[in-house]
Amino acid sequence: MIPINRPDIGQEEADAVLKVLKSGVITDKSGAGPRATELEANFARYVGAKHAIAVTSGTAALHAALLAAGAKTGDEVVIPAFTFHATAEAVRLTGATPTFADINPTTYTVTAETVKAAITSRTKAIMPVHLYGMPADLSELQELAREHGLVLVEDAAQAHGAEYKGSMIGSIGDMTCFSFYASKNMTTGEGGLVTTNHDEYAEQLRMLRTHGEQRPYWPVAIGNNYHLDEMRAALGCVQLKRLPGFLQKRRGNAKLLTSRLATLNRIDCPQEPADRKSAWNLYTIRLRSRSVQERNALVTKLHEAGVGAATYYEAPIHKMPIYLQTPQPRLPETDRACDQVFSIPVHQNVSQQELELEVREIERALSANPKAAS
Ligand SMILES: *Cc1c(COP(=O)(O)O)cnc(C)c1O
Repeated sequence: MIPINRPDIGQEEADAVLKVLKSGVITDKSGAGPRATELEANFARYVGAKHAIAVTSGTAALHAALLAAGAKTGDEVVIPAFTFHATAEAVRLTGATPTFADINPTTYTVTAETVKAAITSRTKAIMPVHLYGMPADLSELQELAREHGLVLVEDAAQAHGAEYKGSMIGSIGDMTCFSFYASKNMTTGEGGLVTTNHDEYAEQLRMLRTHGEQRPYWPVAIGNNYHLDEMRAALGCVQLKRLPGFLQKRRGNAKLLTSRLATLNRIDCPQEPADRKSAWNLYTIRLRSRSVQERNALVTKLHEAGVGAATYYEAPIHKMPIYLQTPQPRLPETDRACDQVFSIPVHQNVSQQELELEVREIERALSANPKAAS
């Protein structure tokens, strides 16, 4: 089976981790040891941000960023319902309530228009997700945030190396959150990081990831232990160095897939607006199907042929029992995407032959099933 994503760990990573283990310095109680500090400096330089704060996961990054933004009980944070549910969980962890904005059916991200419809007097922050690696409409969202006095926190867990109007994701919003989970474009197994250009947010984030300590053993806020240990930071330093190479392969693979698949009826290939570059964490196709069963059958067929296709995300967050709200938000594009999309492997270790197999099997599956709408 061609996996939908797979960590790409080589000898250099192994050597770096072993070196840390032998050094005896495996973490640091102030928040970042030498390797974590190096990862922060390199990541900040890579995206063109003033600060980077390494943490234990993407979820921790989102949680800490929202706390730094001041989100608390009684506040609302506007997010998409079409995302991994950690986006909503991070909001709830602060005590705030997520409110849901619908998506653009082409980029699968929230827009200024859909976010605006979800803003109320309680809204504290807006948190777009650069889903599948595709940046949301950041200029418009930034303007909206400014207009309403809101903090713009980006969930870039899937978007390391994505670009928007010539700027790297991570250099644009008030705070940008990355994940280094095993399925992301670069990985430390588990890990995360927040970038920001604001000194105050950076200071808050550093405090929050060390138990809210203003100075050692003197907490002034309820934070957490979100320290990225030195083994994972060392792994991250090597992965970050390799990221541009990974991205180049992902982009080449995506281009090849689109060149072969774009002519097929009944599917919509991912489209990159002219002003942005996806990081291609996932290559996501829409089957213009009449039923979710038809999409699921296609995914099963691809599995049987050895293509590790997967559906992100089958259930929108606003329909998950723990996130139900009254009145239920109406998110037609979100619902439609949940029923119609599927992703196929596009990562740097998918060979040309494997890409050809993916194309062939999609063609075969589509021609065997005449029921889809055209
Ligand atoms: C992976 C992911 C997260 C969570 O990151 P973890 O490192 O697994 O905690 C949050 N949001 C999105 C969109 C993700 O894809």
